[in-house]
Amino acid sequence: MSTANPMMSILLIGAAAFATDGFSRAAAPASLLGVRTEDLNKRVQACSDFYEYANGTWRAENSIPASLARWSRRVAAHESNWHRQESVLDEVSRKHDWPKGSVEQLLGDHYGSCMNEAAVDAAGVAPLAAVLFEIDAVRNPAGVQRIIRRLHELAVPVPFGVTGDIDYQDSRKFVAHIVAGGIGLPDRDYYLKDETRFVDARTRYRAHVAKTLTLSGVGPAQAGRAASDIVALEKRLAEASLDSATAADAAATDHIMSFAQLQQLAPHIDWERYFEEAQLPRADLSVAEPKFMRQLDQELAKAPVETWKVYLKWRLLDSASPWLSRAFAEESFGFRDQYLGKAAEMKSRTQRCVESADALFGDALGQKYVQAYFPPASKAKVTQIVRNLQAALKAQIAAVAWMEPATKQKAIEKLAATDIQIGYPDHWKDYSAVGIHRDTFWANVAAGRKFNVEENRRQIGKPTDRSFWRLSPASPDSYIILEINSMVLTAGTLQPPFFNPDATDAVNYGAMGIAIAHDLTHAIDATGGAVDISGQPKNWWTEKDHKEFENRSQCLVDQFDGYFIEPGAHHDGKRVRDETVADLRGVRIAYLALERSMQTHPVPTLDGFTPEQQFFISWGQTSGHAMRLEAQRQLIKGDPHPVPKFRVIGPFSDTPEFQKAFSCPAGAPMVRPAEKRCVIW
Ligand SMILES: [Zn+2]
Repeated sequence: MSTANPMMSILLIGAAAFATDGFSRAAAPASLLGVRTEDLNKRVQACSDFYEYANGTWRAENSIPASLARWSRRVAAHESNWHRQESVLDEVSRKHDWPKGSVEQLLGDHYGSCMNEAAVDAAGVAPLAAVLFEIDAVRNPAGVQRIIRRLHELAVPVPFGVTGDIDYQDSRKFVAHIVAGGIGLPDRDYYLKDETRFVDARTRYRAHVAKTLTLSGVGPAQAGRAASDIVALEKRLAEASLDSATAADAAATDHIMSFAQLQQLAPHIDWERYFEEAQLPRADLSVAEPKFMRQLDQELAKAPVETWKVYLKWRLLDSASPWLSRAFAEESFGFRDQYLGKAAEMKSRTQRCVESADALFGDALGQKYVQAYFPPASKAKVTQIVRNLQAALKAQIAAVAWMEPATKQKAIEKLAATDIQIGYPDHWKDYSAVGIHRDTFWANVAAGRKFNVEENRRQIGKPTDRSFWRLSPASPDSYIILEINSMVLTAGTLQPPFFNPDATDAVNYGAMGIAIAHDLTHAIDATGGAVDISGQPKNWWTEKDHKEFENRSQCLVDQFDGYFIEPGAHHDGKRVRDETVADLRGVRIAYLALERSMQTHPVPTLDGFTPEQQFFISWGQTSGHAMRLEAQRQLIKGDPHPVPKFRVIGPFSDTPEFQKAFSCPAGAPMVRPAEKRCVIW
């Protein structure tokens, strides 16, 4: 069960997709790799338009795929990271006699059962027969609640969900969060508004519900009536649900209460039984939407048992459809992905099976992935880079003249407390008791879901486990959670072009170094300044520091106000200020860290480029996304990040070391005049 967590500051590192540009297990090259010389546009001067210089040829030769808004080596690698996972899964699934309970047996049989599409198709809805039978047998409200508990065990969080996560008021505690899960359409507007698109969505939704029920064996007339009852029930629940903006508002969705208060809030729900079966402590918990829970309580008391039965049947089928036979999967794709999600075409069976293995058994896949693609030498190298970044940032904080000593001290302490986990977790999850078989795909999915639900429940009531990963090691994304001072860099992220074990340090500091330094900065800048070292929402910057930061960062506001994506359309400097401050500091810290590293590990000049030039070109190439103009127009209106071009040009033209590296004359477009250069930190 995963629930969007509106209060927690989970920042995806790098803020855009990144990973690898080649997923074969190629032999190590004979010599060190430098920058991508074939991507450069050497007809342009580095000092005139560095963005075009660094990656212009690549962009000219690689058009953006029709379904995407941006494209780069990094995005391409992110998109194709699953191929690495596929090669791991394909290999283990070829063998059928792995020791039972081993990681290889689990992965091979799960993947093999998923790829056996003929068997999945032949089974139809049969894999759900036992639960559907249980639903059909329900005769009273207590039976309805029993089914709700069963569905929760299967990670189907309807009509509400209970999931463990940090306590927003005190991140050291891991508590139960009770969230709304009553409606099947994206938000309340879909049920209540009269705009054509919502009316259309309702009509299609009703037809989709009826069709899915029919596929499961319900007669067409009965399915039509059931669909109307279901949508009517969901509409009543939607009326008590928050709109999507409020649901994402931290303050509006955190209601800490005791177990007794929860019982009073929704007295018709047998919470004693629920907590008993789930083995949850009757401790304080957080309720996201009390109004919804009150309405749900009323509906559980009032709505006919038959309505609840078809509703629960529908929500189970909805959750399982992508993993059932082709008829279910296509019906689900047509409505959810194509109509609501605007997806062009269904992902291949292979990709879907890889994603299933990663989502359910991430640590098993992670172990094999790491063996193949993240050897100890890579971990050692990344660890060293990260240490140097931390040391450079610490030294740089100490050197900031305008920050008050007490604030500096706190920043340094917070930095020291930041736990950076590299590649994979210290302890792998133990799946040996999860029974996985080659011929029962849905049962395997259910077993994996149960394992993950139970694992989450076991943490509730305990101190927050900072070593628990929220993404799988093979995922191409990484993140930092400011509230628990925890940064996770997955092995799936630490691949070319973000990190390349065969490239020079200059190339790696210019790619992953800048991105990681950017995010470490967030932990202690204006963003992280609102969360103290123990994770409490508390400002630890002084008023004077805030004022000075405001004054100094005005320089970047002015700079970015002057960056146009087309005539008449420029960045809103205020909106992108905090991200541009982090970009500028990211460049500075990574550069200092590289200099520090080169004292003991010199970097050779390669392809005619000095180490410093490699560093800057590397960032120009890993950030070198081609982006559709329409997407840029959207981005400047709502996103705190600048468009890719100005994330390169902006900070570099403020950086004297860039000017020096390329011997740019004063007055060159890539060199801001001394009096206009921004120095924040
Ligand atoms: Zn950022």
